[in-house]
Amino acid sequence: MDNVTLFANQGVDINVSNLTKVYKTAAEEVSALKGVDFSVKSGQAVAIMGPSGCGKSTLMNLIGGVDNPTSGNISVGDQEISTTTERGLEQYRLLKVGFVFQFFNLVPTMTAFENLELPMMVAGKEEAECRERAHALLDLVGLAHKGEKRPDQLSGGEQQRVGIALALANDPQLLLADEPTGNLDEKNATNITQLLLSLAEQNGKTVVMVSHDPKCIAQFPITYAMRDGNFVAQES
Ligand code: ADP
Ligand code: MG
Repeated sequence: MDNVTLFANQGVDINVSNLTKVYKTAAEEVSALKGVDFSVKSGQAVAIMGPSGCGKSTLMNLIGGVDNPTSGNISVGDQEISTTTERGLEQYRLLKVGFVFQFFNLVPTMTAFENLELPMMVAGKEEAECRERAHALLDLVGLAHKGEKRPDQLSGGEQQRVGIALALANDPQLLLADEPTGNLDEKNATNITQLLLSLAEQNGKTVVMVSHDPKCIAQFPITYAMRDGNFVAQES
């Protein structure tokens, strides 16, 4: 299977406007996002830097449709995420967005290959297509020979490669990577960052990465900074 078949879907524009998120707990209210305006063009790779607690994961979760905003708009292509029904969001998360996490998010009892097949089976793809795509995705991330390994038999860098392949399983338009190198040494962090960048540059995906690692951020062509729930001008 060649690259063209592996990725039929191009990226997508993201437009976030006046986005707020207040977490209400019994004890307090936390204003995690305070009126964020943010846009990404289809096929761009964008990195967002900021200290712990500034709202990076909250922003990613809202764009990814895993949590609801308090107010504001999030359009991803022609879809308005803030008003999409829960059922619509399920489809959106399964088919349109790929998430890459700091802790890889692989099922520990399943092989790399089985991990990759899972979201494709959930999406209703034929068994043969799941198999072919899982092979092609492992090949893409340089792990064609490690498909039968379970996560605990792979290094951190290898697990994150599987994590990226997993995020790409259903050919999403958008990749959201939340501290994808947070658990990796410097060499693996660079490799993973380059892999994410190539998915925008060579495959036309929209890629948004958040991180507090300046070395990874610096590899991205477009970078933003966040502080205390909003975007701020970058010191340079
Ligand atoms: P970052 O990813 O930049 O470290 P987060 O988006 O995780 O920041 O958190 C932003 C703020 O919101 C922090 O003050 C955090 O404590 C708070 N927060 C995040 N998630 C929750 C939650 N589920 N309930 C209450 N507060 C939360
Ligand atoms: Mg975070």
